Amino acid sequence: MKYDVLIIGAGPGGIFSAYELSKLAPELKIAVFEAGNPLHKRKCPIDGDKIKSCIECKTCSIMSGFGGAGAFSDGKYNITNDFGGTLCDYIGKKQALDLMKYVDEINMFYGGDGTKLYSTTGSKFRKLCIQNDLHLLDASVRHLGTDKNYVVLGNIYEYLADKVDFYFNSHVDKISYVDNQYMISVQGKEYTADKCIISVGRSGSKWMENVCADIDIPTEANRVDIGVRVELPAEVFSHLTDELYESKIVYKTRQYGDKVRTFCMNPKGAVVTENTNGIITVNGHSYEDPSKQTNNTNFALLVAKHFSEPFKHSNSYGESIARLSNMLGGGVIVQRFGDLIRGQRSNYKRMEESFVTPTLSATPGDLSLVLPKRILDGIIEMIYALDKIAPGTANDDTLLYGVEVKFYNMEVKVNENLETKYDGLYIIGDGSGITHSLSHASASGVFVARQIAEKQ
Ligand SMILES: Cc1cc2nc3c(=O)[nH]c(=O)nc-3n(C[C@H](O)[C@H](O)[C@H](O)COP(=O)(O)OP(=O)(O)OC[C@H]3O[C@@H](n4cnc5c(N)ncnc54)[C@H](O)[C@@H]3O)c2cc1C
Repeated sequence: MKYDVLIIGAGPGGIFSAYELSKLAPELKIAVFEAGNPLHKRKCPIDGDKIKSCIECKTCSIMSGFGGAGAFSDGKYNITNDFGGTLCDYIGKKQALDLMKYVDEINMFYGGDGTKLYSTTGSKFRKLCIQNDLHLLDASVRHLGTDKNYVVLGNIYEYLADKVDFYFNSHVDKISYVDNQYMISVQGKEYTADKCIISVGRSGSKWMENVCADIDIPTEANRVDIGVRVELPAEVFSHLTDELYESKIVYKTRQYGDKVRTFCMNPKGAVVTENTNGIITVNGHSYEDPSKQTNNTNFALLVAKHFSEPFKHSNSYGESIARLSNMLGGGVIVQRFGDLIRGQRSNYKRMEESFVTPTLSATPGDLSLVLPKRILDGIIEMIYALDKIAPGTANDDTLLYGVEVKFYNMEVKVNENLETKYDGLYIIGDGSGITHSLSHASASGVFVARQIAEKQ
């Protein structure tokens, strides 16, 4: 089967490549191959009742399918070059921001209209943070919410359905470059095109690594973020979340000089599990719809671990720590902050007596048996620092879920057009190691689509 452009992965990167190509070069024959299900068939079987924890489905509905890893996410669309990836290092700060704003407009057009855009500009919290040795990063954040995010994706799919050929449950096994053509194999069938966009996200990280090794594309990897998800009564952070929705706050620990940061804040949200290549970690999301909101706010506290030569397997290091928590807790472990400080495990009795009701059913345990001392010390120090701007953060009943690991795909060598050394082979989104967010991944998709359309 012959196409003009093959797109691998239907996450934000792949979707926005297809979208922009369909607008700028409607004459092109485009195919999108996605390992997971179409949007309406994506359903995580965990219902908290019959199925309480991950049963390791063949493809994880949280991570895979139309919409990619972001489909059931909180839909926090951050318009910033300060975090979420390093796209601006390749395409320039202005262009990166312009593309993120362009995607935001598309999201508004396809069902997101009416959602709130928060901003740190002029916020009084910047001063409060600095007075307590905490640093608030700059961003505008559109909170689509899990429910609206789903509607937007559904509408974009409707728009694309008759313009692009979608192949679902179609894991691309192999990619080769023969006679100036890209050829991919999907369950024994072959498809070719002059151009190929790879946007396989985090779930495709191992596959991406193999492809790069196979066709000799240089890669670099040396970072992983490890930490916990904090859950506390929504009132504790409401002064910050009401104004900013999400605040990205960075703290440098006194003990080691390590940077600890807040990540993915979900006011009135729920803590969820995440399955990356069979390893269960923790994440969080929240809904726009007030009827689906909880009484708790959750956010991650992460410590970035950079490794230097000769160690090259930062993700494996993160996986090993996550495996340890899976081994001890059968999945995710939860511990009260007070128990952690007193050096005792949380058990079911202590959890029942707690004033904070967990939104995720996790195994009570002891995170000090899982997290390396240096990382745990950093997290504890940051909790006490946050307690100064949000009193109550360091309460005994504050819940810590572990572990949260932010895996970074190894960074793939591409040029300023996000093109590999092979003419017409682009690697974008989280799979490239360059982006780590909905906004940067989507923007990278639009960017390469424009490159391809221009060359027509
Ligand atoms: C629970 C959760 C909450 C999140 N919340 C937010 C948030 O609020 N804000 C934010 O900015 N970011 C959030 N993120 C991160 C965000 O979802 C990602 O940064 C974004 O989805 C990356 O887009 P992508 O297109 O690069 O990759 P992905 O979205 O990961 O999509 C890649 C797709 O490729 C498919 N694939 C992989 N390998 C193959 C293959 N070999 N063949 C065919 N298909 C393949 C996968 O099935 C997947 O659907 C969240 C992530 C998770 C898991």
